[in-house]
Amino acid sequence: MYHVTREIHFCYGHRLLNYDGKCRYLHGHNGKAVITLAAPELDALGMVMDFSRIKRVLNTWIDETLDHKMLLHQDDPVLPLLRQQGEPVYVMNVNPTAENIARHIYDFAAAQGLPVIEVQLWETENCFASYKGKR
Ligand SMILES: [Zn+2]
Repeated sequence: MYHVTREIHFCYGHRLLNYDGKCRYLHGHNGKAVITLAAPELDALGMVMDFSRIKRVLNTWIDETLDHKMLLHQDDPVLPLLRQQGEPVYVMNVNPTAENIARHIYDFAAAQGLPVIEVQLWETENCFASYKGKR
């Protein structure tokens, strides 16, 4: 099996609902998504997929959807206030943990037809969560 991996850096804010720790407060991260694609055979060019195609599909979506957005659970009580202030929010139906953000990026990549096998979401230099699909 061949693999290619691309890193995409982006900034996001979030807070966790029903969480007893610092992450229950609004705060931000310089995050990094590490997306790995796999294929049993290479294409005619000798690639799993051109890095520039991965960038075009995923960078654009992450830039427009997640970068510099406040990622919040749909039940977060701060949501109406932020919307009223015109703050850019991205609403999730799950707690916006690194695990769930990784899964979210994975699902988008898969829906675009990319042969994704894993997405890691690095929240800090030392901590990441990952989601691996069933392939
Ligand atoms: Zn955090």
